[in-house]
Amino acid sequence: MSNKTLGLDDRLSSYLRSVGVREPAVLQQLRSHNAEYPQGHMQICPEQGQFMAMLVKLIAAKQILEIGVFTGYSSLVMALALPDDGRMVACDVSAEATDIAQKYWQQAGVAHKIDLRIAPAVDTLQDLLAAGETFDLAFIDADKATYPEYYELCLKLVRSSGVILIDNVLWYGQVADPNVTDKRTSILRDLNAKIHQDQRVELVMLPIGDGMTVIRRL
Ligand code: CA
Repeated sequence: MSNKTLGLDDRLSSYLRSVGVREPAVLQQLRSHNAEYPQGHMQICPEQGQFMAMLVKLIAAKQILEIGVFTGYSSLVMALALPDDGRMVACDVSAEATDIAQKYWQQAGVAHKIDLRIAPAVDTLQDLLAAGETFDLAFIDADKATYPEYYELCLKLVRSSGVILIDNVLWYGQVADPNVTDKRTSILRDLNAKIHQDQRVELVMLPIGDGMTVIRRL
Protein backbone atom coordinates (compact mmCIF):
# COMPACT_ATOMS: atom_id res chain seq x y z
CA MET A 1 0.00 0.00 0.00
CA SER A 2 1.50 3.28 -1.03
CA ASN A 3 -0.27 5.36 1.62
CA LYS A 4 2.36 4.15 4.05
CA THR A 5 6.13 4.12 3.59
CA LEU A 6 7.27 0.66 2.48
CA GLY A 7 9.03 -1.39 5.11
CA LEU A 8 7.97 0.69 8.11
CA ASP A 9 5.80 -1.20 10.58
CA ASP A 10 2.67 0.49 11.92
CA ARG A 11 4.27 1.58 15.18
CA LEU A 12 7.26 3.25 13.55
CA SER A 13 5.06 4.78 10.85
CA SER A 14 2.78 6.29 13.53
CA TYR A 15 5.79 7.62 15.41
CA LEU A 16 7.26 9.16 12.25
CA ARG A 17 3.99 10.93 11.53
CA SER A 18 3.57 12.06 15.12
CA VAL A 19 6.86 13.97 15.20
CA GLY A 20 7.81 14.33 11.53
CA VAL A 21 4.73 15.59 9.72
CA ARG A 22 2.50 18.63 10.16
CA GLU A 23 -0.49 17.75 8.03
CA PRO A 24 -3.03 20.57 7.58
CA ALA A 25 -6.64 19.71 8.49
CA VAL A 26 -7.82 19.89 4.88
CA LEU A 27 -5.28 17.25 3.88
CA GLN A 28 -6.30 15.06 6.82
CA GLN A 29 -9.90 15.34 5.67
CA LEU A 30 -9.03 14.38 2.11
CA ARG A 31 -7.06 11.41 3.39
CA SER A 32 -10.04 10.25 5.46
CA HIS A 33 -12.23 10.64 2.39
CA ASN A 34 -9.78 8.57 0.32
CA ALA A 35 -9.79 5.80 2.90
CA GLU A 36 -13.43 5.17 1.85
CA TYR A 37 -12.82 5.72 -1.86
CA PRO A 38 -12.15 2.85 -4.32
CA GLN A 39 -8.40 2.65 -4.95
CA GLY A 40 -7.92 5.17 -2.14
CA HIS A 41 -4.55 3.56 -1.40
CA MET A 42 -3.29 5.25 -4.58
CA GLN A 43 -2.85 8.55 -2.80
CA ILE A 44 0.64 9.41 -1.59
CA CYS A 45 1.40 9.13 2.12
CA PRO A 46 1.58 12.25 4.35
CA GLU A 47 5.35 12.14 4.88
CA GLN A 48 5.86 11.98 1.12
CA GLY A 49 3.46 14.86 0.59
CA GLN A 50 5.26 16.96 3.15
CA PHE A 51 8.60 16.16 1.55
CA MET A 52 7.23 17.32 -1.81
CA ALA A 53 5.90 20.54 -0.26
CA MET A 54 9.33 21.13 1.27
CA LEU A 55 10.98 20.65 -2.14
CA VAL A 56 8.56 23.10 -3.75
CA LYS A 57 9.62 25.68 -1.18
CA LEU A 58 13.33 24.84 -1.26
CA ILE A 59 13.59 25.36 -5.00
CA ALA A 60 11.09 28.26 -4.85
CA ALA A 61 8.99 26.58 -7.54
CA LYS A 62 6.37 28.75 -9.21
CA GLN A 63 5.39 26.48 -12.10
CA ILE A 64 4.49 22.87 -11.35
CA LEU A 65 3.33 20.08 -13.61
CA GLU A 66 1.44 17.15 -12.14
CA ILE A 67 0.77 14.01 -14.17
CA GLY A 68 -1.89 11.96 -12.38
CA VAL A 69 -4.17 13.87 -10.03
CA PHE A 70 -6.51 11.14 -8.71
CA THR A 71 -8.44 12.74 -5.81
CA GLY A 72 -5.94 15.56 -5.47
CA TYR A 73 -3.84 14.95 -2.35
CA SER A 74 -0.48 15.51 -4.06
CA SER A 75 -1.70 18.52 -6.06
CA LEU A 76 -3.21 20.02 -2.91
CA VAL A 77 -0.11 19.54 -0.79
CA MET A 78 2.07 21.14 -3.50
CA ALA A 79 -0.41 23.92 -4.27
CA LEU A 80 -0.45 24.88 -0.58
CA ALA A 81 3.35 25.23 -0.80
CA LEU A 82 3.22 27.39 -3.94
CA PRO A 83 3.22 31.18 -3.61
CA ASP A 84 -0.08 32.86 -4.40
CA ASP A 85 1.04 33.69 -7.94
CA GLY A 86 2.32 30.14 -8.50
CA ARG A 87 0.63 27.87 -10.98
CA MET A 88 0.15 24.15 -11.44
CA VAL A 89 -0.97 22.33 -14.55
CA ALA A 90 -2.64 19.14 -13.31
CA CYS A 91 -3.29 16.30 -15.77
CA ASP A 92 -5.73 13.44 -15.36
CA VAL A 93 -8.28 11.47 -17.39
CA SER A 94 -10.86 10.95 -14.64
CA ALA A 95 -13.55 13.58 -14.21
CA GLU A 96 -14.97 11.59 -11.30
CA ALA A 97 -11.79 11.49 -9.18
CA THR A 98 -10.86 15.08 -10.01
CA ASP A 99 -14.33 16.32 -8.98
CA ILE A 100 -13.32 15.31 -5.47
CA ALA A 101 -9.92 16.97 -5.96
CA GLN A 102 -11.52 20.23 -7.04
CA LYS A 103 -13.78 20.29 -3.99
CA TYR A 104 -10.77 20.11 -1.68
CA TRP A 105 -8.74 22.64 -3.72
CA GLN A 106 -11.62 25.08 -3.27
CA GLN A 107 -11.95 24.33 0.42
CA ALA A 108 -8.21 24.97 0.86
CA GLY A 109 -8.31 28.22 -1.13
CA VAL A 110 -5.82 27.05 -3.79
CA ALA A 111 -8.15 26.32 -6.72
CA HIS A 112 -7.02 29.51 -8.50
CA LYS A 113 -3.47 28.14 -8.70
CA ILE A 114 -4.47 24.87 -10.40
CA ASP A 115 -5.18 24.48 -14.10
CA LEU A 116 -6.82 21.05 -14.43
CA ARG A 117 -6.58 19.37 -17.84
CA ILE A 118 -8.84 16.37 -18.34
CA ALA A 119 -7.22 14.58 -21.28
CA PRO A 120 -4.58 11.92 -21.91
CA ALA A 121 -1.52 13.51 -20.28
CA VAL A 122 0.75 12.89 -23.28
CA ASP A 123 -1.55 15.14 -25.34
CA THR A 124 -1.49 17.84 -22.67
CA LEU A 125 2.31 17.65 -22.35
CA GLN A 126 2.71 17.97 -26.10
CA ASP A 127 0.40 21.01 -26.08
CA LEU A 128 2.46 22.59 -23.30
CA LEU A 129 5.67 21.90 -25.20
CA ALA A 130 4.24 23.43 -28.38
CA ALA A 131 3.20 26.49 -26.35
CA GLY A 132 6.78 26.88 -25.06
CA GLU A 133 5.79 26.37 -21.41
CA THR A 134 8.45 25.42 -18.86
CA PHE A 135 8.20 24.13 -15.32
CA ASP A 136 10.30 24.16 -12.18
CA LEU A 137 9.03 20.83 -10.95
CA ALA A 138 7.10 17.89 -12.39
CA PHE A 139 5.50 15.00 -10.49
CA ILE A 140 4.85 11.79 -12.43
CA ASP A 141 2.26 9.54 -10.77
CA ALA A 142 -0.07 8.16 -13.45
CA ASP A 143 -0.40 4.99 -15.59
CA LYS A 144 2.86 3.09 -15.29
CA ALA A 145 2.94 1.90 -18.93
CA THR A 146 3.35 5.50 -20.08
CA TYR A 147 6.01 6.47 -17.51
CA PRO A 148 8.92 6.31 -20.02
CA GLU A 149 7.10 8.72 -22.33
CA TYR A 150 6.17 11.06 -19.45
CA TYR A 151 9.80 11.07 -18.33
CA GLU A 152 11.12 12.07 -21.76
CA LEU A 153 8.49 14.79 -22.14
CA CYS A 154 9.22 16.12 -18.65
CA LEU A 155 12.92 16.37 -19.53
CA LYS A 156 11.85 18.78 -22.25
CA LEU A 157 9.34 20.68 -20.14
CA VAL A 158 11.33 21.09 -16.93
CA ARG A 159 13.94 23.83 -16.88
CA SER A 160 17.64 23.18 -16.34
CA SER A 161 18.22 22.48 -12.60
CA GLY A 162 14.49 21.82 -12.26
CA VAL A 163 13.14 18.72 -10.55
CA ILE A 164 11.25 15.67 -11.78
CA LEU A 165 9.68 13.41 -9.16
CA ILE A 166 8.64 9.89 -10.12
CA ASP A 167 6.32 7.97 -7.81
CA ASN A 168 5.96 4.21 -7.19
CA VAL A 169 9.49 3.41 -8.35
CA LEU A 170 9.76 0.54 -5.84
CA TRP A 171 6.34 -0.77 -6.89
CA TYR A 172 5.45 -2.54 -3.63
CA GLY A 173 8.90 -4.13 -3.74
CA GLN A 174 8.18 -6.03 -6.94
CA VAL A 175 10.93 -4.33 -9.00
CA ALA A 176 13.50 -6.14 -6.83
CA ASP A 177 11.89 -9.56 -7.34
CA PRO A 178 13.21 -11.18 -10.55
CA ASN A 179 10.25 -13.57 -10.54
CA VAL A 180 7.84 -10.68 -11.17
CA THR A 181 7.87 -9.99 -14.91
CA ASP A 182 4.47 -8.45 -15.67
CA LYS A 183 4.39 -5.49 -18.03
CA ARG A 184 4.08 -2.66 -15.52
CA THR A 185 6.78 -4.03 -13.21
CA SER A 186 9.12 -4.57 -16.16
CA ILE A 187 8.54 -1.04 -17.45
CA LEU A 188 9.29 0.45 -14.03
CA ARG A 189 12.37 -1.75 -13.57
CA ASP A 190 13.72 -0.78 -17.01
CA LEU A 191 12.99 2.91 -16.44
CA ASN A 192 14.75 2.87 -13.05
CA ALA A 193 17.83 1.31 -14.69
CA LYS A 194 17.72 3.81 -17.55
CA ILE A 195 17.48 6.85 -15.28
CA HIS A 196 20.32 5.51 -13.15
CA GLN A 197 22.56 5.66 -16.25
CA ASP A 198 21.04 8.80 -17.75
CA GLN A 199 23.78 11.44 -18.06
CA ARG A 200 21.17 14.17 -18.60
CA VAL A 201 20.19 14.07 -14.94
CA GLU A 202 21.27 13.62 -11.33
CA LEU A 203 19.11 11.42 -9.15
CA VAL A 204 18.37 9.99 -5.76
CA MET A 205 15.83 7.21 -5.24
CA LEU A 206 14.14 7.52 -1.87
CA PRO A 207 12.38 4.70 0.02
CA ILE A 208 9.49 7.01 0.93
CA GLY A 209 5.92 5.93 0.29
CA ASP A 210 6.14 3.35 -2.50
CA GLY A 211 9.53 4.73 -3.53
CA MET A 212 10.09 8.09 -5.19
CA THR A 213 12.99 9.13 -7.41
CA VAL A 214 14.07 12.75 -7.15
CA ILE A 215 15.70 13.85 -10.39
CA ARG A 216 17.54 17.08 -11.11
CA ARG A 217 17.73 17.99 -14.78
CA LEU A 218 21.19 19.11 -15.79
CA1 CA B 1 1.40 6.78 -6.77
